[in-house]
Amino acid sequence: MIPLPGTGDATVVRDRFNRPLQSLRISVTDRCNLRCQYCMPEEEYSWLPRETLLTFEEITTLTDLFTDVGVDKVRLTGGEPLMRRDLPRLVHRLTKNRRLKDIALTTNGILLGDQAQALYDAGLHRVTVSLDTLRPERFRALTRRDSFQQVLEGIETVARIGFPQLKLDTVAMRGFNDDELAHLIEYGIRIGAEVRFIEYMDVGGANDWSADKVLSRAMMLKSLSQRYGIIEPIIEQSSAPAQRFRLPDGTTFGIIPSTTTPFCSTCDRSRLTADGMWYLCLYAKQGVDLRQPLRAGLSREDMLSRLRSVWQSRMDRGAEERKELEQTGARGRLIGIEKLREDPHLEMHARGG
Ligand code: SAM
Ligand code: SF4
Ligand code: SF4
Repeated sequence: MIPLPGTGDATVVRDRFNRPLQSLRISVTDRCNLRCQYCMPEEEYSWLPRETLLTFEEITTLTDLFTDVGVDKVRLTGGEPLMRRDLPRLVHRLTKNRRLKDIALTTNGILLGDQAQALYDAGLHRVTVSLDTLRPERFRALTRRDSFQQVLEGIETVARIGFPQLKLDTVAMRGFNDDELAHLIEYGIRIGAEVRFIEYMDVGGANDWSADKVLSRAMMLKSLSQRYGIIEPIIEQSSAPAQRFRLPDGTTFGIIPSTTTPFCSTCDRSRLTADGMWYLCLYAKQGVDLRQPLRAGLSREDMLSRLRSVWQSRMDRGAEERKELEQTGARGRLIGIEKLREDPHLEMHARGG
């Protein structure tokens, strides 16, 4: 008997490298109210046409199918997910799926002050806020917007409401915020959040990534241990991308070393864009259109077998391949700017980071 969506045990499907499909990042919009230099530096992009955006009902239906093949964690992202109107309504719909153990949100925080309570009431489990600096003038230079205070208010609202496991994600960049690592950790301690430092990645193509802007895990650990003393790695079994560490006073923090030490061999993540394209890797140049068959009324069994067969043939290991290019000095821009302008899916903000 075929179980109803969201009930019973799902059979986990595995790819060519035996990696399970367990986590899905759902981008709910490609629009954003910031223009972070490392992600979306241009003012205008070719945006996804409105009529192609998945409705909440379609997102829920696709999520139910994904949980039938093993997904048990979703993360709502974007663009800026809180720019999608009525997001708590989507969260509430997703909470009906009993196979989802984790429903998380990644946001830049600007609209959290207004929306955090409604998201909590709707059943959202966890929030991660991206925060790269504690200096208003740096925030303005990085994001080209003046919203620093709103971000802090948003973070503090989440902390006050009592969401468990609040995280702050910081893209660590050499020559930009390398002098703020300790300040960010200490801000995290004050508000009860764990900070995770992400190495700057060469995704998309409009940003001006270069190897000398990457603050590597080794550099971060060196600088933090000069300030705090011995830093211990925390040994844990987890498919989460962050490696966690403990300072001598017990404070924990994470590093996501995507650029210098890719973790593709354990990657269980894939991404659904706001218009229903399924990407098997952050660096994938092509995705699988799920909107078209969904709107054409393909049967549930056929949709499931499509999901299974696509994942079973997956061989993506984008970050490792990018790293291998370094040996021949061929690591350059992933995608040319002209190509980016033609295809809105290729940028980080369309596929959700
Ligand atoms: N707008 C939301 C936010 O900023 O949290 C969600 C979408 S954003 C694309 C998701 C994450 O991707 C953010 O934490 C952002 O810092 C990260 N990101 C974007 N571009 C990046 C890059 N080039 N290298 C590393 N992380 C990046
Ligand atoms: Fe910045 Fe997130 Fe917007 Fe990208 S999507 S520009 S990381 S706020
Ligand atoms: Fe997974 Fe691709 Fe990122 Fe590697 S680069 S960890 S395969 S999403």
